[in-house]
Amino acid sequence: MKLRTTWEGGCSLIDEIVKQFPLLQMQQDGKRLVYLDSGATTQRPQAVLDAVQHFYEHDNANPHRGVYQVAERATAAYEDSRTEVAAFLNAQKKEEIIFTRNATEALNLIAYSWGLHNLKAGDKVAVSILEHHSNLIPWQQVCRVTGAELVIFYTNPDGTFSDEEIEKKITKGVKLVAFTHVSNVLGLVSPVEKIAARAHAVGAVCVLDCAQSAPHIKLDVTKLGVDFLAFSGHKLYSPLGIGVLWGRKELLEEMPPFLTGGDMIESVREQNATWAPLPQKFEAGTQNAGGAVGLAAAIRWINSVGFETIARRERDVYNYAWEKLSKLPHLTLYGTPEGEHAGAIAFNVDEAHPHDVASILDADAVCVRAGHHCAQPLLHHMGLTACCRASFAVYNTREDVDALTESLLKVRKWLG
Ligand code: PLP
Repeated sequence: MKLRTTWEGGCSLIDEIVKQFPLLQMQQDGKRLVYLDSGATTQRPQAVLDAVQHFYEHDNANPHRGVYQVAERATAAYEDSRTEVAAFLNAQKKEEIIFTRNATEALNLIAYSWGLHNLKAGDKVAVSILEHHSNLIPWQQVCRVTGAELVIFYTNPDGTFSDEEIEKKITKGVKLVAFTHVSNVLGLVSPVEKIAARAHAVGAVCVLDCAQSAPHIKLDVTKLGVDFLAFSGHKLYSPLGIGVLWGRKELLEEMPPFLTGGDMIESVREQNATWAPLPQKFEAGTQNAGGAVGLAAAIRWINSVGFETIARRERDVYNYAWEKLSKLPHLTLYGTPEGEHAGAIAFNVDEAHPHDVASILDADAVCVRAGHHCAQPLLHHMGLTACCRASFAVYNTREDVDALTESLLKVRKWLG
Protein backbone atom coordinates (compact mmCIF):
# COMPACT_ATOMS: atom_id res chain seq x y z
CA MET A 1 0.00 0.00 0.00
CA LYS A 2 1.44 3.34 -1.06
CA LEU A 3 0.56 6.58 0.73
CA ARG A 4 1.36 9.95 -0.79
CA THR A 5 1.41 13.10 1.27
CA THR A 6 -0.35 15.29 -1.27
CA TRP A 7 -3.63 14.96 -3.02
CA GLU A 8 -4.15 17.02 -6.13
CA GLY A 9 -7.58 15.89 -7.28
CA GLY A 10 -11.12 17.29 -6.75
CA CYS A 11 -10.56 20.68 -5.12
CA SER A 12 -14.19 20.94 -4.10
CA LEU A 13 -13.57 18.15 -1.60
CA ILE A 14 -10.95 20.12 0.27
CA ASP A 15 -12.50 22.94 2.23
CA GLU A 16 -10.84 25.26 4.66
CA ILE A 17 -11.17 22.88 7.60
CA VAL A 18 -10.08 19.75 5.77
CA LYS A 19 -7.00 21.57 4.48
CA GLN A 20 -5.70 21.95 8.02
CA PHE A 21 -5.31 18.19 8.53
CA PRO A 22 -2.13 16.85 6.87
CA LEU A 23 -3.18 13.21 7.04
CA LEU A 24 -6.41 13.96 5.20
CA GLN A 25 -4.39 15.22 2.24
CA MET A 26 -2.95 11.76 1.70
CA GLN A 27 -3.74 9.29 -1.01
CA GLN A 28 -3.99 5.58 -0.54
CA ASP A 29 -3.26 3.60 -3.69
CA GLY A 30 -4.09 6.68 -5.78
CA LYS A 31 -7.40 7.31 -4.02
CA ARG A 32 -8.36 10.17 -1.74
CA LEU A 33 -8.31 9.01 1.88
CA VAL A 34 -11.82 9.07 3.37
CA TYR A 35 -11.42 8.93 7.13
CA LEU A 36 -14.62 7.79 8.85
CA ASP A 37 -13.12 6.43 12.08
CA SER A 38 -12.93 9.54 14.25
CA GLY A 39 -14.82 7.73 17.01
CA ALA A 40 -11.67 5.63 17.41
CA THR A 41 -9.32 8.60 17.14
CA THR A 42 -9.49 11.91 15.31
CA GLN A 43 -6.85 13.31 13.01
CA ARG A 44 -4.82 16.31 14.25
CA PRO A 45 -4.82 19.76 12.67
CA GLN A 46 -1.50 21.41 11.80
CA ALA A 47 -1.94 23.86 14.71
CA VAL A 48 -1.81 20.97 17.20
CA LEU A 49 1.16 19.31 15.49
CA ASP A 50 2.99 22.67 15.53
CA ALA A 51 2.26 23.29 19.21
CA VAL A 52 3.60 19.87 20.21
CA GLN A 53 6.70 20.31 18.06
CA HIS A 54 7.28 23.79 19.55
CA PHE A 55 7.08 22.36 23.07
CA TYR A 56 9.67 19.68 22.34
CA GLU A 57 11.93 22.10 20.46
CA HIS A 58 11.82 24.94 23.01
CA ASP A 59 10.27 24.04 26.37
CA ASN A 60 10.90 20.35 27.00
CA ALA A 61 11.95 19.42 30.54
CA ASN A 62 10.35 17.43 33.35
CA PRO A 63 7.45 19.60 34.64
CA HIS A 64 7.34 20.45 38.39
CA ARG A 65 10.96 19.32 38.88
CA GLY A 66 13.74 21.71 37.82
CA VAL A 67 14.32 25.33 38.85
CA TYR A 68 16.18 26.24 35.67
CA GLN A 69 14.42 28.28 32.99
CA VAL A 70 13.60 25.50 30.55
CA ALA A 71 12.04 23.46 33.35
CA GLU A 72 10.04 26.47 34.49
CA ARG A 73 8.75 26.90 30.94
CA ALA A 74 7.77 23.21 30.85
CA THR A 75 5.88 23.58 34.14
CA ALA A 76 4.20 26.75 32.94
CA ALA A 77 3.19 25.14 29.62
CA TYR A 78 1.72 22.15 31.48
CA GLU A 79 -0.15 24.25 34.05
CA ASP A 80 -1.37 26.77 31.44
CA SER A 81 -2.82 23.79 29.54
CA ARG A 82 -4.73 22.82 32.68
CA THR A 83 -6.16 26.36 32.85
CA GLU A 84 -7.29 26.07 29.22
CA VAL A 85 -8.95 22.70 29.88
CA ALA A 86 -10.74 24.19 32.92
CA ALA A 87 -12.06 27.05 30.76
CA PHE A 88 -13.09 24.56 28.03
CA LEU A 89 -15.24 22.69 30.58
CA ASN A 90 -16.31 25.86 32.38
CA ALA A 91 -14.82 24.36 35.55
CA GLN A 92 -14.62 27.00 38.25
CA LYS A 93 -11.47 25.58 39.86
CA LYS A 94 -8.44 24.57 37.85
CA GLU A 95 -7.41 21.99 40.47
CA GLU A 96 -10.54 20.03 39.52
CA ILE A 97 -8.77 19.11 36.26
CA ILE A 98 -6.67 15.96 36.57
CA PHE A 99 -4.55 14.95 33.59
CA THR A 100 -4.62 11.23 32.86
CA ARG A 101 -3.46 9.08 29.94
CA ASN A 102 -6.97 8.77 28.51
CA ALA A 103 -10.65 8.37 29.41
CA THR A 104 -10.03 4.77 30.46
CA GLU A 105 -7.50 5.82 33.09
CA ALA A 106 -9.78 8.62 34.29
CA LEU A 107 -12.70 6.20 34.74
CA ASN A 108 -10.47 3.67 36.51
CA LEU A 109 -9.26 6.45 38.79
CA ILE A 110 -12.85 7.15 39.89
CA ALA A 111 -13.65 3.45 40.28
CA TYR A 112 -10.57 2.53 42.28
CA SER A 113 -10.31 5.71 44.32
CA TRP A 114 -13.94 6.76 44.92
CA GLY A 115 -15.41 3.27 44.45
CA LEU A 116 -13.13 1.23 46.70
CA HIS A 117 -13.30 3.97 49.32
CA ASN A 118 -17.07 4.46 49.37
CA LEU A 119 -18.81 1.23 48.28
CA LYS A 120 -19.69 -1.75 50.46
CA ALA A 121 -21.84 -4.89 50.33
CA GLY A 122 -25.49 -3.93 49.97
CA ASP A 123 -24.72 -0.84 47.86
CA LYS A 124 -25.47 -0.70 44.14
CA VAL A 125 -23.70 0.79 41.14
CA ALA A 126 -25.85 1.49 38.07
CA VAL A 127 -24.38 1.65 34.55
CA SER A 128 -26.16 1.75 31.21
CA ILE A 129 -26.10 -1.03 28.62
CA LEU A 130 -24.54 1.42 26.16
CA GLU A 131 -21.21 1.51 28.00
CA HIS A 132 -17.82 1.13 26.41
CA HIS A 133 -15.84 -1.52 28.31
CA SER A 134 -13.84 1.34 29.88
CA ASN A 135 -16.92 2.47 31.80
CA LEU A 136 -18.10 -1.04 32.64
CA ILE A 137 -15.19 -3.28 33.58
CA PRO A 138 -13.78 -0.93 36.28
CA TRP A 139 -17.23 -1.03 37.94
CA GLN A 140 -17.44 -4.82 37.59
CA GLN A 141 -14.06 -5.10 39.29
CA VAL A 142 -14.86 -2.67 42.07
CA CYS A 143 -18.22 -4.32 42.74
CA ARG A 144 -16.49 -7.70 42.93
CA VAL A 145 -14.03 -6.41 45.54
CA THR A 146 -16.51 -4.42 47.66
CA GLY A 147 -19.51 -6.75 47.36
CA ALA A 148 -21.64 -4.00 45.84
CA GLU A 149 -24.17 -5.04 43.19
CA LEU A 150 -23.83 -3.92 39.56
CA VAL A 151 -27.19 -2.92 38.06
CA ILE A 152 -27.61 -2.37 34.31
CA PHE A 153 -30.18 0.06 32.97
CA TYR A 154 -31.24 -0.83 29.45
CA THR A 155 -32.26 1.17 26.41
CA ASN A 156 -35.30 0.69 24.21
CA PRO A 157 -34.59 -1.37 21.05
CA ASP A 158 -33.74 1.86 19.16
CA GLY A 159 -31.07 2.81 21.71
CA THR A 160 -33.05 5.54 23.53
CA PHE A 161 -33.73 5.53 27.28
CA SER A 162 -37.21 5.33 28.78
CA ASP A 163 -38.12 7.25 31.93
CA GLU A 164 -39.57 4.03 33.40
CA GLU A 165 -36.26 2.15 33.09
CA ILE A 166 -34.32 5.03 34.62
CA GLU A 167 -36.74 5.19 37.56
CA LYS A 168 -36.91 1.41 37.95
CA LYS A 169 -33.12 0.86 38.03
CA ILE A 170 -31.80 4.00 39.68
CA THR A 171 -33.35 3.57 43.09
CA LYS A 172 -32.48 3.93 46.77
CA GLY A 173 -29.31 1.96 47.49
CA VAL A 174 -27.65 3.03 44.23
CA LYS A 175 -24.52 4.90 45.33
CA LEU A 176 -23.05 5.65 41.91
CA VAL A 177 -24.46 6.00 38.39
CA ALA A 178 -22.02 5.88 35.45
CA PHE A 179 -23.08 6.34 31.85
CA THR A 180 -21.93 7.59 28.51
CA HIS A 181 -22.85 11.01 27.13
CA VAL A 182 -22.79 9.66 23.56
CA SER A 183 -22.86 5.98 22.59
CA ASN A 184 -19.70 5.06 20.69
CA VAL A 185 -21.74 2.55 18.66
CA LEU A 186 -25.06 4.27 17.99
CA GLY A 187 -24.00 7.91 18.25
CA LEU A 188 -27.09 8.70 20.32
CA VAL A 189 -26.87 11.45 22.93
CA SER A 190 -28.00 10.32 26.40
CA PRO A 191 -30.46 12.42 28.46
CA VAL A 192 -27.74 13.55 30.86
CA GLU A 193 -29.71 16.01 32.93
CA LYS A 194 -32.54 13.54 33.47
CA ILE A 195 -30.25 10.66 34.53
CA ALA A 196 -28.07 12.93 36.68
CA ALA A 197 -31.14 14.38 38.41
CA ARG A 198 -32.43 10.88 39.14
CA ALA A 199 -29.00 9.81 40.43
CA HIS A 200 -28.87 12.77 42.81
CA ALA A 201 -32.49 12.24 43.88
CA VAL A 202 -31.53 8.80 45.23
CA GLY A 203 -28.31 10.15 46.76
CA ALA A 204 -25.91 8.71 44.15
CA VAL A 205 -22.78 10.22 42.68
CA CYS A 206 -22.93 10.63 38.90
CA VAL A 207 -20.11 9.85 36.43
CA LEU A 208 -20.33 10.90 32.77
CA ASP A 209 -18.14 9.32 30.10
CA CYS A 210 -17.56 12.13 27.60
CA ALA A 211 -15.09 10.27 25.37
CA GLN A 212 -17.50 10.45 22.43
CA SER A 213 -19.19 13.75 23.24
CA ALA A 214 -16.24 16.08 23.89
CA PRO A 215 -15.42 16.58 20.17
CA HIS A 216 -19.04 17.29 19.23
CA ILE A 217 -20.90 18.95 22.12
CA LYS A 218 -19.91 21.94 24.25
CA LEU A 219 -19.33 20.50 27.73
CA ASP A 220 -20.24 22.78 30.63
CA VAL A 221 -19.80 21.23 34.05
CA THR A 222 -21.96 23.93 35.63
CA LYS A 223 -24.91 22.74 33.53
CA LEU A 224 -24.45 18.99 33.02
CA GLY A 225 -25.25 18.29 36.67
CA VAL A 226 -22.76 15.41 37.05
CA ASP A 227 -20.02 14.92 39.65
CA PHE A 228 -17.23 13.52 37.48
CA LEU A 229 -16.55 13.47 33.77
CA ALA A 230 -13.83 11.90 31.66
CA PHE A 231 -12.56 12.28 28.11
CA SER A 232 -9.56 11.41 25.92
CA GLY A 233 -7.52 14.02 24.08
CA HIS A 234 -6.92 11.81 21.06
CA LYS A 235 -10.63 11.81 20.18
CA LEU A 236 -10.51 15.62 20.42
CA TYR A 237 -7.90 16.43 17.74
CA SER A 238 -5.07 16.11 20.32
CA PRO A 239 -2.06 13.80 20.72
CA LEU A 240 -2.36 10.23 21.96
CA GLY A 241 -1.67 9.65 25.65
CA ILE A 242 -3.41 12.62 27.27
CA GLY A 243 -6.83 12.50 28.91
CA VAL A 244 -8.84 14.43 31.46
CA LEU A 245 -10.77 13.71 34.60
CA TRP A 246 -12.89 16.53 35.96
CA GLY A 247 -14.42 16.06 39.40
CA ARG A 248 -16.08 18.20 42.03
CA LYS A 249 -13.35 19.49 44.33
CA GLU A 250 -15.03 18.33 47.53
CA LEU A 251 -15.25 14.74 46.20
CA LEU A 252 -11.70 14.72 44.81
CA GLU A 253 -10.35 16.06 48.10
CA GLU A 254 -11.87 13.18 50.07
CA MET A 255 -10.60 10.52 47.68
CA PRO A 256 -7.33 8.63 48.26
CA PRO A 257 -4.71 8.63 45.48
CA PHE A 258 -5.11 6.11 42.67
CA LEU A 259 -1.43 5.83 41.71
CA THR A 260 1.41 6.70 44.05
CA GLY A 261 5.04 7.72 43.51
CA GLY A 262 6.89 10.86 42.52
CA ASP A 263 5.30 14.31 42.36
CA MET A 264 2.07 13.40 44.21
CA ILE A 265 3.44 13.68 47.73
CA GLU A 266 3.76 16.34 50.39
CA SER A 267 6.34 14.47 52.47
CA VAL A 268 7.69 10.93 52.64
CA ARG A 269 9.27 9.02 55.52
CA GLU A 270 10.51 5.45 55.55
CA GLN A 271 7.15 3.97 56.50
CA ASN A 272 4.58 6.48 55.31
CA ALA A 273 3.78 9.47 53.17
CA THR A 274 1.33 12.35 52.94
CA TRP A 275 -0.23 13.59 49.77
CA ALA A 276 0.15 16.80 47.79
CA PRO A 277 -3.00 18.89 47.35
CA LEU A 278 -5.14 18.64 44.20
CA PRO A 279 -4.45 18.14 41.37
CA GLN A 280 -0.97 16.70 42.06
CA LYS A 281 -2.41 14.05 44.41
CA PHE A 282 -3.76 12.27 41.33
CA GLU A 283 -0.82 12.89 38.99
CA ALA A 284 1.89 10.48 40.08
CA GLY A 285 5.04 10.24 37.99
CA THR A 286 6.31 12.31 35.08
CA GLN A 287 3.36 13.80 33.25
CA ASN A 288 2.72 14.08 29.53
CA ALA A 289 3.36 17.81 29.25
CA GLY A 290 3.72 17.63 25.45
CA GLY A 291 0.31 15.94 25.29
CA ALA A 292 -1.23 18.56 27.57
CA VAL A 293 0.20 21.33 25.37
CA GLY A 294 -1.26 19.57 22.32
CA LEU A 295 -4.64 19.27 24.05
CA ALA A 296 -4.63 22.99 24.86
CA ALA A 297 -3.77 23.75 21.22
CA ALA A 298 -6.65 21.51 20.11
CA ILE A 299 -9.00 23.40 22.43
CA ARG A 300 -7.87 26.70 20.93
CA TRP A 301 -8.38 25.24 17.47
CA ILE A 302 -11.88 23.99 18.37
CA ASN A 303 -12.73 27.39 19.85
CA SER A 304 -11.55 29.07 16.64
CA VAL A 305 -13.92 26.85 14.64
CA GLY A 306 -16.70 27.06 17.24
CA PHE A 307 -19.09 24.38 18.44
CA GLU A 308 -21.91 25.91 16.41
CA THR A 309 -19.98 25.33 13.19
CA ILE A 310 -18.93 21.88 14.35
CA ALA A 311 -22.53 20.93 15.14
CA ARG A 312 -23.88 22.40 11.89
CA ARG A 313 -21.36 20.57 9.70
CA GLU A 314 -21.62 17.30 11.58
CA ARG A 315 -25.43 17.38 11.64
CA ASP A 316 -25.50 17.94 7.90
CA VAL A 317 -23.09 15.05 7.24
CA TYR A 318 -24.92 12.76 9.69
CA ASN A 319 -28.38 13.48 8.18
CA TYR A 320 -27.04 13.10 4.65
CA ALA A 321 -25.36 9.80 5.60
CA TRP A 322 -28.46 8.40 7.32
CA GLU A 323 -30.61 9.32 4.32
CA LYS A 324 -28.22 7.83 1.77
CA LEU A 325 -27.39 4.69 3.74
CA SER A 326 -31.04 3.98 4.56
CA LYS A 327 -31.73 3.77 0.81
CA LEU A 328 -29.00 1.22 0.11
CA PRO A 329 -30.19 -2.33 -0.48
CA HIS A 330 -29.08 -5.11 1.90
CA LEU A 331 -27.98 -2.68 4.57
CA THR A 332 -29.26 -2.52 8.16
CA LEU A 333 -28.78 0.65 10.16
CA TYR A 334 -28.88 0.47 13.97
CA GLY A 335 -30.37 3.03 16.31
CA THR A 336 -32.68 5.79 15.17
CA PRO A 337 -32.27 9.05 13.25
CA GLU A 338 -34.73 10.65 15.70
CA GLY A 339 -33.39 12.65 18.62
CA GLU A 340 -29.94 14.09 19.21
CA HIS A 341 -26.92 12.45 17.58
CA ALA A 342 -23.22 12.97 17.57
CA GLY A 343 -20.69 11.42 15.36
CA ALA A 344 -21.54 7.80 14.54
CA ILE A 345 -23.72 5.48 12.48
CA ALA A 346 -23.62 1.70 12.97
CA PHE A 347 -24.60 -0.70 10.21
CA ASN A 348 -24.23 -4.17 8.74
CA VAL A 349 -24.43 -5.46 5.19
CA ASP A 350 -26.67 -8.54 4.92
CA GLU A 351 -24.72 -11.79 4.87
CA ALA A 352 -21.35 -10.03 5.01
CA HIS A 353 -19.01 -10.11 7.97
CA PRO A 354 -18.26 -6.56 9.18
CA HIS A 355 -14.51 -7.21 8.87
CA ASP A 356 -14.96 -8.17 5.21
CA VAL A 357 -17.02 -5.03 4.68
CA ALA A 358 -14.34 -2.84 6.27
CA SER A 359 -11.61 -4.50 4.18
CA ILE A 360 -13.54 -3.95 0.95
CA LEU A 361 -14.09 -0.30 1.89
CA ASP A 362 -10.37 0.01 2.65
CA ALA A 363 -9.63 -1.00 -0.94
CA ASP A 364 -11.44 2.25 -1.84
CA ALA A 365 -9.46 4.14 0.85
CA VAL A 366 -12.58 4.45 3.02
CA CYS A 367 -11.71 3.90 6.69
CA VAL A 368 -14.47 2.55 8.96
CA ARG A 369 -14.26 0.45 12.09
CA ALA A 370 -15.66 -3.07 12.32
CA GLY A 371 -16.04 -5.29 15.36
CA HIS A 372 -17.65 -5.10 18.77
CA HIS A 373 -16.44 -1.53 19.37
CA CYS A 374 -15.45 -2.39 22.97
CA ALA A 375 -19.17 -2.59 23.77
CA GLN A 376 -19.80 -6.34 23.78
CA PRO A 377 -22.76 -6.26 26.21
CA LEU A 378 -24.51 -3.66 24.02
CA LEU A 379 -23.93 -5.68 20.84
CA HIS A 380 -25.17 -8.79 22.65
CA HIS A 381 -28.27 -6.84 23.75
CA MET A 382 -28.78 -5.87 20.08
CA GLY A 383 -28.49 -9.53 19.04
CA LEU A 384 -25.17 -8.93 17.25
CA THR A 385 -21.56 -9.96 17.65
CA ALA A 386 -20.15 -7.25 15.42
CA CYS A 387 -21.07 -4.35 13.17
CA CYS A 388 -19.46 -1.60 11.11
CA ARG A 389 -19.32 1.99 12.30
CA ALA A 390 -18.80 5.13 10.26
CA SER A 391 -17.89 7.95 12.63
CA PHE A 392 -17.61 11.61 11.77
CA ALA A 393 -15.70 14.69 12.82
CA VAL A 394 -15.80 18.31 11.74
CA TYR A 395 -13.57 17.60 8.72
CA ASN A 396 -15.98 15.14 7.12
CA THR A 397 -18.00 16.20 4.09
CA ARG A 398 -20.91 14.94 2.04
CA GLU A 399 -18.33 13.75 -0.51
CA ASP A 400 -16.97 11.40 2.17
CA VAL A 401 -20.46 9.95 2.57
CA ASP A 402 -20.77 9.56 -1.20
CA ALA A 403 -17.48 7.64 -1.24
CA LEU A 404 -18.77 5.41 1.56
CA THR A 405 -22.07 4.64 -0.16
CA GLU A 406 -20.42 3.98 -3.54
CA SER A 407 -17.98 1.60 -1.92
CA LEU A 408 -20.71 -0.15 0.08
CA LEU A 409 -22.56 -0.88 -3.15
CA LYS A 410 -19.60 -3.05 -4.19
CA VAL A 411 -19.58 -5.23 -1.08
CA ARG A 412 -22.08 -7.90 -2.04
CA LYS A 413 -20.77 -8.02 -5.62
CA TRP A 414 -17.25 -8.66 -4.32
CA LEU A 415 -18.44 -11.31 -1.89
CA GLY A 416 -20.46 -12.98 -4.64
N1 PLP B 1 -15.68 5.62 26.44
C1 PLP B 1 -16.17 5.64 25.19
C2 PLP B 1 -17.62 5.94 24.98
C3 PLP B 1 -15.33 5.38 24.12
O1 PLP B 1 -15.80 5.41 22.87
C4 PLP B 1 -13.96 5.11 24.37
C5 PLP B 1 -13.06 4.80 23.26
O2 PLP B 1 -13.45 4.50 22.16
C6 PLP B 1 -13.52 5.12 25.69
C7 PLP B 1 -14.39 5.38 26.71
C8 PLP B 1 -12.10 4.83 26.01
O3 PLP B 1 -11.26 5.78 25.44
P1 PLP B 1 -9.68 5.58 25.51
O4 PLP B 1 -9.39 4.28 24.82
O5 PLP B 1 -9.14 6.75 24.80
O6 PLP B 1 -9.35 5.53 26.94
